[in-house]
Amino acid sequence: EAKAHHRGTWVMFAHEHETRMRLQGAIEHALRHADLAAELSLVFQPMVDVGQQRTVAFEALARWHSPELGLVSPDRFIPVAERVGLINELTQILLAKALRVMATWPAHVGLSFNLSMADITAPEAVGRLCALIKASGVDPSRLQLEATETAMIDDFAQAQAGLARLKALGVSLSLDDFGTGYSSLAYVHRLPVDKLKIDRSFTQGLMEHDSARKIIRSILELSRSLKLDCVVEGVETHEQAALLQALGCRTMQGYLFHRPMAPEAIGPYLRREDVGTSALDDTRFSRR
Ligand code: C2E
Ligand code: MG
Ligand code: MG
Ligand code: MG
Repeated sequence: EAKAHHRGTWVMFAHEHETRMRLQGAIEHALRHADLAAELSLVFQPMVDVGQQRTVAFEALARWHSPELGLVSPDRFIPVAERVGLINELTQILLAKALRVMATWPAHVGLSFNLSMADITAPEAVGRLCALIKASGVDPSRLQLEATETAMIDDFAQAQAGLARLKALGVSLSLDDFGTGYSSLAYVHRLPVDKLKIDRSFTQGLMEHDSARKIIRSILELSRSLKLDCVVEGVETHEQAALLQALGCRTMQGYLFHRPMAPEAIGPYLRREDVGTSALDDTRFSRR
């Protein structure tokens, strides 16, 4: 019985593994043959100051429309691009696009952009990113770069050097997915971090699990005592937002406010927010 069951489980895992390998192979093949500049695009998700009910920045999120594979999620193609050495090229294309879009926004709205480890640890790649940022002419204080801690500790000295060069431009640095295995406490004080982004897994457990609430509360306290900004990701409901606000969280991001949107949608979105007819108006946040 038990043996048969285990064998069945193994067969299933083996099958899943095979399917995953085949998919990764297909992604790798399509990526290598892609016209990346044409097929990659960005969508933007607002980060909202709930006290002021105002969008303070947008996070740029990559999308890949492959002619062969259709729309591929970044959770699938970014790891492959990292593995096959295409990530630096991909990041440059995306950052150039993001900076062009950002140039059309009002000056109080910032841009948050995700980087991979190789973007920070390869000196030539860092140099190209710095050049792009300078050439764009945008005020670097409006630009935040997001990375996970693993992205930095794998090659800590190189990461520190790369981050120092980027930070010298005047951009700020956010630790993404904070609280997960990818980002935790180990290196916060040794890296030039300005902001923590609390991972959405904690937000998802917020209403049901006391532990998630306690973890979020401690991270918020930690960020206050270290004088770091803090953003909570993955806020989907009014209940979550109200509880987070009660815990002292000011900046939030998630489907409650808006799904990631195409660049063309941002102008109208900000105008709705300006005249006070945005989706946020029926929320129970107090204006402060
Ligand atoms: P991330 O940086 O943590 O981005 C947040 C992810 O959560 C995004 O998924 C976003 O669409 C999703 N999300 C936002 N609000 C909610 C919500 O309320 N509920 C739920 N369930 N999900 C929400 P996306 O766009 O699929 O990106 C996945 C990951 O891919 C990102 O996680 C980031 O690590 C990576 N990524 C995306 N774009 C880039 C990029 O340009 N460069 C690099 N290196 N990585 C990127
Ligand atoms: Mg991010
Ligand atoms: Mg994140
Ligand atoms: Mg993530």
